Amino acid sequence: MVTAADGADKAAGRAALVLFSGGQDSATCLAWALARYDRVETLAFDYRQRHRVELDCRHAVRQALGARGASWGDWADRLGEDHLIDLSNLAAISDTALTREAEIRMTDAGLPSTFVPGRNLLFFVYAAAIAYRRGIRNIVGGMCETDYSGYPDCRDDTIKALQAAVSLGLDRRMTLHTPLMWRDKAATWRLAEELGGKSFVELVRVETHSCYLGDRATLHPWGYGCSQCPACELRRKGWREYAAG
Ligand code: ZN
Repeated sequence: MVTAADGADKAAGRAALVLFSGGQDSATCLAWALARYDRVETLAFDYRQRHRVELDCRHAVRQALGARGASWGDWADRLGEDHLIDLSNLAAISDTALTREAEIRMTDAGLPSTFVPGRNLLFFVYAAAIAYRRGIRNIVGGMCETDYSGYPDCRDDTIKALQAAVSLGLDRRMTLHTPLMWRDKAATWRLAEELGGKSFVELVRVETHSCYLGDRATLHPWGYGCSQCPACELRRKGWREYAAG
């Protein structure tokens, strides 16, 4: 016998919540989810990041993906609600080059000064709370430890521990998906092409934002950015490898 609870379980399994900041990685994760789940909602955080321009980019990407008749098929029908959470207190408690005007450099801890301690931990706890309320059991994030800045909260072990913690704390099994964890940036561009073809790659190239300084003055072959900060460096290097085939 199929009960109402079974039905709700099934629906929860067919829905996903994507941490969608407006950057290259999270846009690719959004496409990954749209290719797999019947209903996909998006979530972003305003933590007074210097590159808040990324929050504007999310609207452009969502709008393009939500347009019916685009080359990515039925994704428009699957794209659900958007959530924006104000986490301005994160900037107040952290003193980093990502949340205030400061030089981006390597710290004594061997991490870039853009590291915001606890950021992804908080993001997933908020995401799990929203997913719980929305009847969603899949949470998707663009964390990666293959070609990254060394942030410890992007590592696979951290995400696995968080999955256990939020599932126990909510008494509901939550699955945290990180499709980019073992992909380098070139592979992420290739994944974008596999999922949505060249037109989706072009959308990611032009409409997403990675640069820590929020620079959208110049369109480079790999997208907008200052081309100097660690995020631009990674994006440019990945694009070059991808474009070289
Ligand atoms: Zn930059």
